[in-house]
Amino acid sequence: MSKQLILALSKGRILDETLPLLADAGIAPAENLSKSRKLLFDTNLPDVKLVVIRATDVPTYVQLGAADLGVAGKDVLLEHGAEGLYEPLDLEIAKCKLMTAGIDGARPARARRRVATKFVNVARRYYAEQGIQAEVIKLYGAMELAPLMNLADEIVDIVDTGNTLRANGMSPRELIAPISTRLVVNKAAMTMKHSRLKPLIARLAEAVERRRPRAASAAG
Ligand code: AMP
Repeated sequence: MSKQLILALSKGRILDETLPLLADAGIAPAENLSKSRKLLFDTNLPDVKLVVIRATDVPTYVQLGAADLGVAGKDVLLEHGAEGLYEPLDLEIAKCKLMTAGIDGARPARARRRVATKFVNVARRYYAEQGIQAEVIKLYGAMELAPLMNLADEIVDIVDTGNTLRANGMSPRELIAPISTRLVVNKAAMTMKHSRLKPLIARLAEAVERRRPRAASAAG
């Protein structure tokens, strides 16, 4: 097992919110990530390296020990299954909701509901728990289009402001899970590299804590 700690970061929207949090925790990439085509970066900490990969690959890298720890959305972790991972910290960034949604005013009439989503595992589990028969159709993007094109009765997708749904004449229906970004750690690394992981996780936890709005008592 390598002596360095490898931290896997999710590309895209989450990365934009992760880097300032890492900076607050005293972890900074040695070069500008967005200006580089590299995928593996040194940091200001000699024993910490970063890899920047697709969000859906982060649980796999950490589960198989290619990375010791990672930053991933709870949506991705729920869909992946995330077995063999510890989830020691909610980073409280990129908050959103995983929801079902459909065309405004329409009620899913079909006995066997057709659901389009990229979260097929989450959707299958959710509808089974609800006792609803569902045919889950895997899509890779633009879920909102599926009901409009009569491909599906309903979608399962991430909702933040709800603007994307509204712009397409759709509205959220049921909440499946509140989502935020989590720190995940490989189980073997947690044991074998504990003395180096522990202070790193503690620094991140402190950074999360410092960002929380102060309790109302501060006003009194
Ligand atoms: P909104 O229009 O604000 O409801 O945003 C909805 C779209 O933004 C979704 O279809 C998602 O693809 C994306 N999105 C919003 N929040 C997140 C997040 N925290 N993580 C990943 N994707 C997100």
